[in-house]
Parts: sequence; structure tokens; C-alpha cells
Amino acid sequence: MINIAIDGPAGAGKSSVAKAAAKQLGYIYVDTGALYRAIGVNALRHGFKTDDAEKIIPMLDNTKVELIYTDGIQRVILNGEDVSEEIRLPEASMAASNVSAIPEVRAFLLNLQRDIAKKNNVIMDGRDIGTVILPDAQYKFFLTASPEVRADRRYKELKEKGSDVDYNALLEEIIQRDYNDSHRKTAPLKQAEDAIFIDTSNLSFDDSVEAVVSKIR
Ligand code: C5P
Repeated sequence: MINIAIDGPAGAGKSSVAKAAAKQLGYIYVDTGALYRAIGVNALRHGFKTDDAEKIIPMLDNTKVELIYTDGIQRVILNGEDVSEEIRLPEASMAASNVSAIPEVRAFLLNLQRDIAKKNNVIMDGRDIGTVILPDAQYKFFLTASPEVRADRRYKELKEKGSDVDYNALLEEIIQRDYNDSHRKTAPLKQAEDAIFIDTSNLSFDDSVEAVVSKIR
């Protein structure tokens, strides 16, 4: 199977680039952030503080997360319920970042990710795909952009969906999540040594996709 890893910070364009590249290549696009978001949402539903490992670890015994694909679209199923929309709510982002720092949560989601990659040609995006989940991926990319460009993209995306968002709050959240994700002890966000670095700050969307697809082809 062909496995492609795309890592990078929040809002670097990983998911839209990976999705478009996967479509062109006929691979499955796997959004691993959705898994951490589902765990985060489950913790919020229980009323737990999302960084409270003593509450979250036992919760995992009663948590089942599945990814299903229909026509290339990923849906996230939490204990039998489709939570694909709920995991996109703003509070789910920080919840995901918090639960993802708990090593037991990462271990809980590891095999699910590897199993999908074993059975399918995938472009998988996340934070530790090239470093931990798929160290033998044929190609690895590290996509980034300045925090301001990333906040601006998120802002426009959410505005388009009709959300009432504040640019400065988004920028602050992005900076905070970057810090959390790159400073945690287990599987921090970092570029794999053999990853191709792409800064999308000044690249158009199509050029970013082309940069990835042309390498793979
Ligand atoms: O990619 P997305 O923004 O949906 O990810 C939400 C959070 O999940 C990230 O901020 C990060 O803390 C965590 N995550 C992770 N490892 C991954 C994917 C996401 O720790 N492979």
C-alpha cells in the first residue's frame, strides 16, 4: 500500500491539500485530528476537564471511535453516533489538543490509524504521522504557514459558514495550540527528518496541492 504522511500545525492547509491530493491520486484521505476531536467531545459530554487524565483515561474503556468512508468522505463515529459535525465546533479544537497530550489517548488511537494505512492507499494528515504513526511512509510532507496566515484562513472559512468569529481570538487559539502540540512530551508536533518542508504562506491552494501531488507521481 502507498502511505503518504502530511504533518504540520493547525490551519496550515493540511486537510484541504491532503483531501484534494487524495482525490487526484484515488487514495483515501484520513484526517486523524478527527479522532482526537471525538475523544475531546466525549470528555466534554461527560463534563470532564479535558486535561484531566485521571478522568479521561478510565473514560477510554467505554469509548469506541470508528472512521468510515463513503465516496471518499470521512465520517467519525463515537459510540455508534455520527459526530462529524459536532467535532468541528470551536470548543472541540482545544479539547482535542488537551486530550491529545495524554499518552494513553495516543496509544488508544494508534492501531486504528495504522490499520487503515495497512489496508488502503492513504494520505493521512495529523501531527505525528511521519514521526510515529507511519514512520515508513513512502512520502512525508511537513506543511506550515505563518500563524497570521493560518488564522486568516480559519477566519474566512468560519465566516463563510456563517459563524460569528473574532480574528484575534482565532490567532490566539492557533498560537496556544501550536505551543501545546509542539511542547507535549508524547509525540510532539515536529518535522520528520525525511519530510519535505512546504511553507504555504505565499502559495495558492492549487500550487500547494501540485507541490504534493507532483512529488508522489
Ligand atoms: O488537525 P486538527 O486541528 O483537527 O487536530 C486537533 C488537535 O488534535 C490538534 O491540535 C492536536 O493537538 C491533536 N492531534 C494530534 N495528533 C494528530 C492529529 C491531531 O495530537 N495526529
